[in-house]
Amino acid sequence: MKVPFNVLRPQYLMFKEEYDRAVLEALDSGWYVLGEKVSQFEREFADYVGVRHCVSLNSGLDALVLAFRALGIMEGDEVIVPANTYIASVLGVTENGATPIFIEPDKFYNIDPTKIEEAITKRTKAILPVHLYGQPARIEEIMVIAEKYNLFVVEDCAQAHGATINGKNIGTFGDINCFSFFPTKNLGAFGDAGAIVTDNEELAEKMRKLRNYGSVKKYYHEIEGVNSRLDEIQAALLSAKLKHMTELEDDRRRVAEKYLEEITNPLIGLPKIKEGFKHVWHLFVVKCNQRDELQRYLSDNGIGTQIHYPVPPHLSGAYERFGYKKGDFPITEDYADTVLSLPLYNGMTDEEADYVIEKINMFKGVSV
Ligand SMILES: *Cc1c(COP(=O)(O)O)cnc(C)c1O
Repeated sequence: MKVPFNVLRPQYLMFKEEYDRAVLEALDSGWYVLGEKVSQFEREFADYVGVRHCVSLNSGLDALVLAFRALGIMEGDEVIVPANTYIASVLGVTENGATPIFIEPDKFYNIDPTKIEEAITKRTKAILPVHLYGQPARIEEIMVIAEKYNLFVVEDCAQAHGATINGKNIGTFGDINCFSFFPTKNLGAFGDAGAIVTDNEELAEKMRKLRNYGSVKKYYHEIEGVNSRLDEIQAALLSAKLKHMTELEDDRRRVAEKYLEEITNPLIGLPKIKEGFKHVWHLFVVKCNQRDELQRYLSDNGIGTQIHYPVPPHLSGAYERFGYKKGDFPITEDYADTVLSLPLYNGMTDEEADYVIEKINMFKGVSV
C-alpha cells in the first residue's frame, strides 16, 4: 500500500459538484476581481470566526505583512515571535523593516508565554502568536501580557481555522488576525488566498485600502498600497467549502484520533493537547529521537511524511544578517531535529490510516 503525505484531489471530489458550479457561476458573472462573491465570502468568514470584519487578500503572507503595516509597525520596532514557526510568520515582521524577537516554544510546540515578558523592551510594539499545527497558542496568557505592556497582538491563524479555547474561536483575541487559504490549509482555496479578520472598523478600512493600491474609491489613492485582491472564482470556491467546514474538520479528527489511540510505539512521542483547547489537526506531528531513520523507514514502506520545519527561521539563510547561531534556541532546534508530520488529509481512508499505524508500531529504531 502507498500512503502519500497529502493529496488534494480527494477533498475536491468530496464536494465536486458544488465546486464546479461555483466556478462556472463566477465565470458566467462577467466580474472577476473584488466583486459580489468576494463580499459574500468576507461576510461568511467573519461570521464563521465570530468577528465584525474580514478583508480578503492574495495570501496568508500578505495578510501578515499588511496587518503589521496597518498597525504602523516599522523599522526600529520589535515584534515578539515564536522561534518555532513557518518563516512566513516572521516575514510579516521583517517585510516592514521591524525586528523579530524569537521566543522558545512550550511542549505544545507553540510560543511559551512564560518567556515573553523578559524579552519586552522599549521598542517592543506587538506579539505574534502562531497557532501552529492546528492547536491554539496560549493566547489568554499572551493577552494579559499585551495589556500590561500596551502591545498589539496579531494572531497567525494560517494553520488553525476553527480552533477554539474553551469554545472561543482563535482569530477573535488579537487586534488583527491573519488567515491563509493556501490549498493545503484546513480551509483551502484552489489557488493562493488569504484574509485578515478584526473587530476594529478603522483597521478593516485601512486593510481595504492597502490591498487595492491605497484606494477604496477608484483612482483616489489615499495611502501607498499594494495589489493583494482576491478573485471571484477563489471566493466562490471558498464559500462553497466553508459550508462544509464542520464535516471537513471532523474528517481530519477521525484520522488524528485513530493515530492518538492506536500508535503505541514507545519511540514515538504523540502530540499533547492542552485542556480546553480544540486542536483542528492541520498537521499530525510526532516526535522521535531517530526521526531521520523513522522517515526513511516509512518512505521504504510507501508512506510519505514531511518535516515542519527542518530549519528554524533564526538559522535560515534568509535571516543570516541577525547573526544567530546553533544553540541560541535549543528547544526549537531540538524540535527541528526530531519532529515528523504523518499523512493527514481530507478524504484519507481508515485503511490508509491503519496501514500507517501498523508500520509505525513496527518501527524498531536502529541501535547506535
Ligand atoms: C501557510 C502559512 C502562512 C502563509 O500563508 P500563504 O497563504 O502561504 O502565504 C503563514 N503562517 C503560517 C503559520 C502558515 O502555515
